[in-house]
Amino acid sequence: MSVAEIIQSAKKTLFSFEILPPLKGKGLESIYNTINPLMDFGPKFINITSHREVYDANNNRVRRRPGTVAVAAVVAQQYGIPVVPHILCGGFSRKETEYVLIDLNFLGITDIFALRGDSIKHSEPYKAEPDGNTYARDLLVQIADMNKGKYLDDSDFGTSLATKFSCGVAGYPEKHYAAVNLESDIRNLKAKVDAGAQYIITQMFFDNAHYFNFVKQCRAEGITVPIVPGIKPIGFKNQVDVLPQLFHLSLPQELEKSLRACTNDEDARKIGTEWAIMQAKELVAHNVPLLHLYTYSSAQQCVDILKAAL
Ligand code: FAD
Repeated sequence: MSVAEIIQSAKKTLFSFEILPPLKGKGLESIYNTINPLMDFGPKFINITSHREVYDANNNRVRRRPGTVAVAAVVAQQYGIPVVPHILCGGFSRKETEYVLIDLNFLGITDIFALRGDSIKHSEPYKAEPDGNTYARDLLVQIADMNKGKYLDDSDFGTSLATKFSCGVAGYPEKHYAAVNLESDIRNLKAKVDAGAQYIITQMFFDNAHYFNFVKQCRAEGITVPIVPGIKPIGFKNQVDVLPQLFHLSLPQELEKSLRACTNDEDARKIGTEWAIMQAKELVAHNVPLLHLYTYSSAQQCVDILKAAL
């Protein structure tokens, strides 16, 4: 079953989570340490994030976390559950994207999360590579072509070489930072669904009202695919400032006040876990098909959330 089919056929709230490829030069140990404790809860799939180049201190473009495809292959083989590598437009030409997709196809990995990505420097507006995809929608079109056996060099292999990729995309309950308003952002989200996206996973949010409102507006716009809530447990005190800055989202006053009163990360982590449990319980009570957890370095927090909420 594809990840989209798993989500669509959910009878009760399922769960999945997201991991980052290790920093360059590090082994897979950190990944296993994150995944192992979560396997007891029966995750339905694992997303592997993707990271484009950044500028180092000498202004060289470097990729600090390459390896999304290889990590996805190892995790799929090791744990025997579906993996969902993230594929970005930003930083990649369409040709490079085609080669990555061919690698994934050879590896039997057919679930993909299609994203635009961000600019190489956060201070600069996003710009696609000269021969790259501009928006996530364009990447979906490229993937849909390959699913018809159409490749970039105009070769049309028809069904004999048609891939079977199935895609999810990102949605933003508090709107994407570059969008003028939530309405236009949702119209662009609808274009992604029309181009073939089969489910949506949301950006993290800390007030469930944002998610419920987002789902309502998406349905009104004619988006019928599942909309999976993304939940991030706060793990560090400084995230009270970092998360809103980096992800362009808001924290409820009550949460912000409690975090600012913390004197250390341990206290902040406790508050973050309790908050995420409260969110998860309410979402489960509303029969969301799946909870998608942003684990990053906080597997134990995710264990606590799953124990309490599922
Ligand atoms: P798009 O859907 O392409 O939208 C980007 C912006 O363009 C939006 O403002 C949209 O409204 C607008 N837009 C879309 N189409 C048009 C159009 N035709 N004309 C004008 N405007 C348009 N980033 C990473 O680098 N690696 C990851 O692994 C990663 N994983 C993520 C996972 C999730 C669940 C989420 C929510 C985000 C993730 N991101 C990741 C972040 C993401 O790459 C950024 O938020 C990026 O800025 C937008 O990507 P997108 O695919 O949502 O873009």
